[in-house]
Order: sequence, then structure tokens, then C-alpha cells
Amino acid sequence: MEYETIIGLEVHAQLLTRSKMYCGCSADYAAAPPNTHVCPVCLGMPGVLPTINRQAVEYTIMTALALNCTVQVNTKFDRKNYAYPDLMKGYQISQYDAPFGTEGWLTIEADGQKKRLGIIRVHLEEDVAKLTHRAATPAEAFAHRTRASEEAYSLVDVNRAGAPLMEIVGCPDIRSPEEARQYLVKLRTILQYLGVSTGNMEEGSFRCDANISLRPMGTQELMPKVEVKNMNSFKAVYRALEYEVERQKKVWDTCERVVQETRGWLEEKGVTVSQRSKEQAHDYRYFPEPDLPPLVVGREWVDAIREKLPELPEDRRDRFVREYALSAYDAGLLTGSKAMADYFEACVKEAGVPKTELTKKAKEIANWLLGEFIRLLNVSNIEINTSKIRPKALVELLKLLEQGKISSTAAKTVFEEMFKTGKPAAELVASLGLAQLSDAGELARLVGEVLVKNPQAVGDFKAGKEQAIGFLVGQVMRATRGRADARTVGELIKARLAG
Ligand code: ZN
Ligand code: MN
Repeated sequence: MEYETIIGLEVHAQLLTRSKMYCGCSADYAAAPPNTHVCPVCLGMPGVLPTINRQAVEYTIMTALALNCTVQVNTKFDRKNYAYPDLMKGYQISQYDAPFGTEGWLTIEADGQKKRLGIIRVHLEEDVAKLTHRAATPAEAFAHRTRASEEAYSLVDVNRAGAPLMEIVGCPDIRSPEEARQYLVKLRTILQYLGVSTGNMEEGSFRCDANISLRPMGTQELMPKVEVKNMNSFKAVYRALEYEVERQKKVWDTCERVVQETRGWLEEKGVTVSQRSKEQAHDYRYFPEPDLPPLVVGREWVDAIREKLPELPEDRRDRFVREYALSAYDAGLLTGSKAMADYFEACVKEAGVPKTELTKKAKEIANWLLGEFIRLLNVSNIEINTSKIRPKALVELLKLLEQGKISSTAAKTVFEEMFKTGKPAAELVASLGLAQLSDAGELARLVGEVLVKNPQAVGDFKAGKEQAIGFLVGQVMRATRGRADARTVGELIKARLAG
């Protein structure tokens, strides 16, 4: 049977505010010892009163606008009641029926076509404490009078409790794990462009839960959905969804029913496992938060925020095409990451070329970024903004290449060394002995040697086999350790053999 995959994603993003959502505690606790960024409000002591973080509201409205949402002017906060050890108050102050943003969308490219994926809502709430689950050591088990060393215990760190958290709920418009991945990448890019969140999934500042169900192709009925949790990378989301598609297919194919439940992704095993079924589903007993007044967002405020919105990924891509004459494809790749786009523009600025040479230079820089640079970044798994090669250093390398001081082969070697060591290009060219072989006599001598040593290839070339030239050029390049210009070498060989 053919099935259609239906996926909807819920994303929680931590906001980059200075203080927490409802109290004055610093939200910059990443490097702080546990339980040092706390006060009676975020500890949930009785009788305390929360206040609303204006910057968090502004960030949420910015996001709602960037995601093409309708911004609600009359909003309020609601209490979501549930008991869990990471929730100090026993309730979370969230938004229920009056979120800041509703009915928006973002676009992805699926099979070369633009596809619009709906956003149901964007709302603001608070984060919970961080639990660390541990197995007890024998000594700890003894100290705590527990019976076995397997007896687990949990550590609570309240620093994160009360940090502003923005929730973005997507429509079930996603039809494949690949579309889900693209949705997340696009959403994260938008948040990074807005500067409202780091969007770092591995660090937990950008978290995703996925709802997934399958239905027979061509039908409209919605089947029981499974919520998948515990995915902390884009790759994990993709793998977990792929796994669920296959698992649910098998269940339907054997004429059983998929159970509506929450499942957790186990990264090491590459499987999802049942966590809780529908019968245990929560009833949150939402009611308006009595400690906070309704929040009326003035139209003028929304307009002012709209005015201040920074350039977004698609606008920047279009501008790159316009300003630097890059292809839409290259411009899309560069602007897909704010850090990469910033780096590109920093290089262009650093190069300081006249207008007439701008597009040529921009293309050259783009080729390096999207070729060698991305390759090395991927291999070493780092972001371009933390790379040891700064824009100025890359531009210096390109200058050496342009002035013919190094060959393009040598430039790649130097680039790799720069990436590893952060040393300037000129210094590495000298220490690695990679200065271009500009002595015409020396080069001619090497070409002569190679021709004598390879009579077979010479014969092939003379017999009309054009490809033989590539082999000969390669041999000369090897003899010069990549210091010659391959095109010059090719011309020299041709001239020799023609004579
Ligand atoms: Zn606090
Ligand atoms: Mn939530």
C-alpha cells in the first residue's frame, strides 16, 4: 500500500534576552555554576509576583512578523498546570488562546519548487529547570541508603527555569523527513537573522518535537499521530522521522492500528521507543494567569518593530543576486547561514575592488567559500564564524593567487594550512616553499625531463589522443610540487610537441 506522510513540527527556541521571562535574574547562565541564577520568583515561592519581559515580547513579535503571522493586539498569559520535578511552581506561565502570532508561513524549496509551510501560532512562555539523570556510584548508593548501584537519582539545576522560551507550532503541511529538515533549517536561519535566538540545537536552545502519521495515499482522514521527542540535532530529527515512517508503514501493512502515543528517539540505537500512551495524556487545566494583567500590544508598537526588522534570508539572497551577480543557487547557499553571508560580505569589503571588478571578485570569493571552505568546515564540524581564517586572511591568499605568486594548486595547500594553524598566507607560502615557479628556464627543463621519461604518453598525444596531455601536465605539476601554473605547463608541452 502507498502511504502519505503527514508531519507537523513544534519548536521551542530560547530567546537571547538579558534577564529571565518573569523575574530580574540574569538569563546568561550558560557558564554559571548550577542554581546560582535564581530568585523567589523563578523558584516559584508562594506570594511572589511575576512581571513581563518586554524584550522577550518584542522578540516574539519580530518572529511572528518574519513568519508572516497576524500579530494579535490583545494577548494574555495563561497558566498551564502540570506536575513534574523540573517545574518549580507546578505550572508554567504560557499562552493558550491568545498567542502573539497566528496563521503564518515560511517557504522551503522541495524538488526545485517553492513550497509554503503553514505556521499555526507563535507564543511566549518560560523554560523549566534542567534535570540531569544519573546512576548512583556504589559510594553514593551507600550514602543515600539506596539498595543498588543501578538506583538512579536526578540533579536539578534551576538556572534555566523561567528563561524566556518561544514556541512555534507548525501546520501538518510537511510531507517527508527531508521537508521537515528544510523547515527547521529555514526557521533557525530566520531566528538567527533576527538575532532573537542562537538556534543551537546541540546546546538545547532550539528544540523540536515532531508529530507524524501516515494515511493511505489519496485519502483525507487524519490517522492517529505519534509525537516524537528527544532529538537534539537536525540529523536526529531526520533519522527519527525516517524511522517512524518505516515503523508505521509496517504496522498499517500488517492490518494493525498505529497507537496514538509519545515516543522518544534513542540516538545510539537509531530507534524510537514508547514513552506514554494517550490514556496518560495531560489535562493542563489552562486558565488566565491571575498574577499578570492582559497584555495589550499597541498597533504603533507592532509597526515600530516591523520598521526595525533586519534583512531576512530571502531578501538577502535576492540582493546578492542583484549586487554581486551571483547565481540564485550560490546566493541561496551563502545566505542560508547568516554567519556565512556575513563572512562573504566581509571578504568582499576587505577586497575593496573597484565597481567594475566587483562581480568577478565576488564570484571568486563565493567559489572559495562554497568549495574548499565548506568542505573543511564540514569535515571539522565547525561554523565559519569560529574558523581560524578571518576574511582579511582569505583575501590576502586570493591576492597572492591573483598576482601569480602561487599556483591554484598551491593555494589550496596553503588554505588547508591556514585553516589548521591560522597563520597568514604569505608566511605559509614561504615556510612550505610553495612560491610559484616563475623561472622559465627551470620550468622548461622540468617539462623536457617529463617528456623524455614518458614516451608512451608523448606518442599517444602525437597519435591524436588529446587526453594524454592531462597526464603529462600532472607529471610536471608533481615534479614542481604544485608550484607551477597548470595552464602554462599545458601550453609549454603543446608547444614542445608541436615543434
Ligand atoms: Zn529569578
Ligand atoms: Mn511549550
